[in-house]
Amino acid sequence: MGSLNALVLFTVFIPACRAAPLPNFVLLFADDLGYGDLGCLGHPTSLTPHLDRLAADGLRFTDFYVTSPVCSPSRASLLTGRYQTRSGIYPGVLYPGSRGGLPLNETTIAEVLKPLGYATAMMGKWHLGLGAGGTYLPTRQGFDHYLGIPYSHDMGPCQNLTCFPPDVKCFGHCDTGVVTVPLMHGETIKQQPVDFLELEEKYNNFASEFIQTAVNKHQPFFLYYPSHHTHYPQYAGKNSVGRSLRGPFGDSLLEFDSTVGNILQTLKRTSILNNTLIFFTGDNGPSLMRMSRGGNAGLLKCGKGTTYEGGMREPAIAHWPGIIRPGVTHSLSSTLDILPTFARLAGAQLPSVQLDGVDMTDILLHQGPGKREAMFFYPTNPSEKYSVFAVRMGKYKAHYYTQGSALSDTTPDQDCHVTSFLKQHDPPLLFDLESDPSENYSLSTKEHPELVSVLQQIQAFKDKFEASMQFGESEIAKGTDPALEPCCTPQCTPKPECCQCGTLSL
Ligand code: MG
Repeated sequence: MGSLNALVLFTVFIPACRAAPLPNFVLLFADDLGYGDLGCLGHPTSLTPHLDRLAADGLRFTDFYVTSPVCSPSRASLLTGRYQTRSGIYPGVLYPGSRGGLPLNETTIAEVLKPLGYATAMMGKWHLGLGAGGTYLPTRQGFDHYLGIPYSHDMGPCQNLTCFPPDVKCFGHCDTGVVTVPLMHGETIKQQPVDFLELEEKYNNFASEFIQTAVNKHQPFFLYYPSHHTHYPQYAGKNSVGRSLRGPFGDSLLEFDSTVGNILQTLKRTSILNNTLIFFTGDNGPSLMRMSRGGNAGLLKCGKGTTYEGGMREPAIAHWPGIIRPGVTHSLSSTLDILPTFARLAGAQLPSVQLDGVDMTDILLHQGPGKREAMFFYPTNPSEKYSVFAVRMGKYKAHYYTQGSALSDTTPDQDCHVTSFLKQHDPPLLFDLESDPSENYSLSTKEHPELVSVLQQIQAFKDKFEASMQFGESEIAKGTDPALEPCCTPQCTPKPECCQCGTLSL
């Protein structure tokens, strides 16, 4: 059935006889969500009924990777199909006053689809720069419509963030000395500080209006929803707060899941669910430094900030009723592969740059083995000197360097902690991730001489990749300028406190 549908699909996608509508794409992206956080992946108290439904009716990836264990670089790779080292989104992440951003000459998924007549929209967390006059906002990167906050929601004083019970301030501290977090609509600040507790409702309205308008116009669409959930500090609006057994993290995840449910409902109501590919994944592993308020990497080692599996491997689901057969795939895949896959399914042209992504349609439509041969793991601060820290090839992963991170402090495993300094491994630490996904038992070539050739093959992949890598100029090293922080009343004083615009209706 699946292959028959696939055949039909590719027949209608030949441009000369494109009678059938182009597929719609919904890309859902959770923030700091671990491999063990979804109900369907075994978390005992997470409430994720809609994501669980997508997983049951769709294709679940077990070996899906991001390109960085922190936000901005991971997002750059998702949207461009290229490692962050090429686009310059390293080291670390962008800040409210950053001078740099995702370079405008990079081609995003939205820009790939637009020439085919796609309507494009994004809601949620951008985190790929603002720049002077909004130079780097989503509206400059192919998105017709944008509603959201331009960076992480802890990058400003935590106004309006309460947890359960109501009126109890959230755990921990946010950044001070910068502007409060704004809500942007297009390139205009609509509210500063944003009311986080009402934000999800605005996103729900935005998504349903965008989808309904595209349907009315018979226009294919691309909706990108990178959520603030489940990044620290976790919050949830009135419909989700206190509803999970898991506390603030569980409530935050539940609110995200509810929006997934509302999007699904809109797709059903407008009778386009069967012509829509929904893809879900997350940007990096859990922020274990937040202890039980952070996420959970399940059986994977460490989390955010590290190149162990817990920092880089994410849950992923592809859902397209009638086209993608329900099941599980162990094919090695990555956020890098989403751009070429959407392009192939839409019949769009690929950008003429060096792409790191490969087309996944074989996996999605035919349960094929996939084209990806290897995955390269950069740390949060990539450099030409150290290059990639680890390489996965087939079922094996070799660590050339390991390093802990403050973002993965607090767990019992000392390797995850910031006090585990940069360490070179020669020969590399080698793990068989099929039999040992937790990276517990390093394999020695003395005991397993047959692995000498495996290490040689991995080294050959690494050498070839490194020869192809041209580091782009670092956008993050351009530094910050407080004058670039978004302010709804640009001429006011004293900053940053004066940047306040109350509640504005959209
Ligand atoms: Mg993140």
